[in-house]
Amino acid sequence: MNPPIRVLALHAHPDDLEFQCAGTLALLREAGCHITLATMTPGDCGSAEHDAEAIAEFRRNEARASANLIDADYLCLEFRDLAIFNDDESRRKVTEALRRVRPDLVLTAPPVDYLCDHEMTSLLVRDACFAAPIPNYVTRQWEPAPPLTRIPHLYFVDPIEGIGRDGLPVAVGFHVDISRVFVLKRQMLACHGSQRHWLRKHHGIDEYLESQARWGERRGREIGVTQAEAFRQYLGPAYPRDNLLLELIGQDGSGGAVVPTNSREPRGQGTRGTADQGEA
Ligand SMILES: [Zn+2]
Repeated sequence: MNPPIRVLALHAHPDDLEFQCAGTLALLREAGCHITLATMTPGDCGSAEHDAEAIAEFRRNEARASANLIDADYLCLEFRDLAIFNDDESRRKVTEALRRVRPDLVLTAPPVDYLCDHEMTSLLVRDACFAAPIPNYVTRQWEPAPPLTRIPHLYFVDPIEGIGRDGLPVAVGFHVDISRVFVLKRQMLACHGSQRHWLRKHHGIDEYLESQARWGERRGREIGVTQAEAFRQYLGPAYPRDNLLLELIGQDGSGGAVVPTNSREPRGQGTRGTADQGEA
């Protein structure tokens, strides 16, 4: 039997994944994938009451509780809020995280979004996917993991409210119908109790969970279902171009179902393989 497909969802802060792709992660888990939820930071600026380390500890625990609901691992890369930069050391650190998790499929932040941390995360993850299979790229981390065997499939989640810097809607590659698992997605977001309180204070938003539901409904209307999430696949040269995500969950990307094929070649980022892609 082939090992399970490994999925890494890596966004900037605790709760970003719950807004943008937790429904799809629940479906991938149902499909038998191994899931890791990861955040670049522990959300250390997300409080007006607690100091940075205290709120960070709260939020790591909230993220872990959310991950537990879909039987996923949780990992924090321990960058700090508003201090994620696309530099040499950061790229090596993110590449090491990929080599340790060994994903076949990666979901990350979109290239354009309202917040610097989101955009830097997107760049770092994109380039770490490329770097991770390259044997001569050393991460300079403690007990480094071996290179990946191939570049993972890479997908960008929606920016907040689906808009770019000009306030206009960004392009959507495909939708995932998450209507059936929306209750679970809502429960995952509800694990982030500190933020329901904090957002009320900082943004005047008294409806943390309702805004999640409204966004999913809007994406859902675009394909005639109750709740949906939208993605774009990164299709740069050397990156895989077949849509593994849709194939795994048996959807056609516009609200319909397809029968998953059984003809897929064995996958899995074996720990002993040699890189077959990623020539720089
Ligand atoms: Zn964020």
